[in-house]
Amino acid sequence: MPPHPDLPAHLLGRLVVGSEVVDVDRDDLAENVSPAADATWPVAVASPGHALRALDAAASAQPAWARTALPDRADVVRGYRAFLDASAEPLARLIVLESGKTITDARAEVAVAGAVVDELLACAPVALEAREDGDPQARVATLRDPVGPVLLITPWNFPLAMASRKVVSALLAGCTFILKPSERTPLTAMYMVEALLKAGLPAGVGSVMPSHRSAEILAALTGDRRLRKISFTGSTAVGRKVLQASTTHFQRVSLELGGNAPAVICPGADLEQAVGTIWNAKLFNNGQACTSPNRVVVPESAAADVFALFRSAATAATADDPWAASSRLGPVISQAAADRLRRLVESPHGGAVVTGGVASGTPGVAVAPTVVLAPDPAADICVEELFGPVLPVVCYPDDDLGAAVALANATDYGLASYVFGPADEADLVAAGLDVGMVAVNRGSVSHPKAAFGGVKHSGFGRENGVDGLREYLETRTVLRPVS
Ligand code: NAD
Repeated sequence: MPPHPDLPAHLLGRLVVGSEVVDVDRDDLAENVSPAADATWPVAVASPGHALRALDAAASAQPAWARTALPDRADVVRGYRAFLDASAEPLARLIVLESGKTITDARAEVAVAGAVVDELLACAPVALEAREDGDPQARVATLRDPVGPVLLITPWNFPLAMASRKVVSALLAGCTFILKPSERTPLTAMYMVEALLKAGLPAGVGSVMPSHRSAEILAALTGDRRLRKISFTGSTAVGRKVLQASTTHFQRVSLELGGNAPAVICPGADLEQAVGTIWNAKLFNNGQACTSPNRVVVPESAAADVFALFRSAATAATADDPWAASSRLGPVISQAAADRLRRLVESPHGGAVVTGGVASGTPGVAVAPTVVLAPDPAADICVEELFGPVLPVVCYPDDDLGAAVALANATDYGLASYVFGPADEADLVAAGLDVGMVAVNRGSVSHPKAAFGGVKHSGFGRENGVDGLREYLETRTVLRPVS
């Protein structure tokens, strides 16, 4: 069978070591299956040996890349930024093929990646600026030095946006990098780093390690003191392993982990606006976003109206062909993901289950959009990160915003949250939420100017803008006598 037309055929079964695209041996190949089409293709499986070669290259290239002036580093990033515009459609189609999200969501991801890069370029001079201070006894210089070679580990659900902001932050900060993309979406990462090579990324500075041997690669790289930082985005379970692995050489770590975002509807909220916005946010990325609303928290007095609105939203929604521009929901990533969602919906939770449909001919494994009305807030369906088009709706006693906040915070996670209502109520709730990000009367916490990250089991560290760049910079001070 010829390769699917949306595959970059020249990158199949290849990886990038020290800014060079290389082939792997036949033994180092695996087969990937599209969640969105009847297509399979060979992908490289980088070994720990490949990863250590990549680290050799990153460590050798680090001093020169750190000395390269920021405007010159930014030129490489600008070349990459131009590629995001010029190749937006092939990129979006590759993202659909590898991840199964809808073409509309994939195009949105490419646009977000571009906006985040623009903001990082704008913020870099501020983030990297040295500062002079002092008193009659001493002059104090505060310098921002690149951390050093970094390992960037990314998930499959935003294969371009996550890798893009990590790689660009590292490059602007002056760090060389090894990107370890999800084994499900390696080609998007290869395609993106190939664009950086074409934009003039110097020898040694960047590597891409597509691999199904993530644990071994992590062990090999963290066991080497030349690696100085790991930036990880993915599940909380794997984040814990990354943190543990970092303790041998105390590499710096940032962790962007799972979420269980509450969406709190206040008593004075416009219910139709709130439910419509929450439902759109739920369907975005097939519900497979760390920031996806995971529980809706509603006042008892509004419960009947809110339930009716969610009931009609869910029954009207249908999973459909992800390639069609009209589709709002596509297949989930795998059969295992669908089975897990089904188990959670069928588990004893005490709520009423309302489902929509799956259009005939939908490729891959689709899950019907589902709301679960009034389950026990302590049931697994409320406690776990759902990561699919399933949404429980729970109630709090009328006019007790403290109870709403307590319910919203009753999770180990602390990434995104949503609040709907008039300013006096919404601000009160927003101030009480134990999370990294709150969206008030809107369905997204993402914005290129907003620092992105969480607390508790959602990790630590921030992405985007000055905060994001500082994750790749060490503060070094130099003190001199006042002459
Ligand atoms: P995952 O944790 O399974 O995988 C993430 C990355 O870690 C992949 O590259 C994978 O190959 C790698 N990996 C897996 N096992 C590893 C190991 N033992 N050692 C080193 N690396 C390993 O997550 P996923 O399924 O790709 O993505 C979904 C998860 O990511 C969800 O929990 C979601 O909430 C989270 N996520 C968080 C954010 C955020 O910004 N907080 C953004 C997107 C996704």
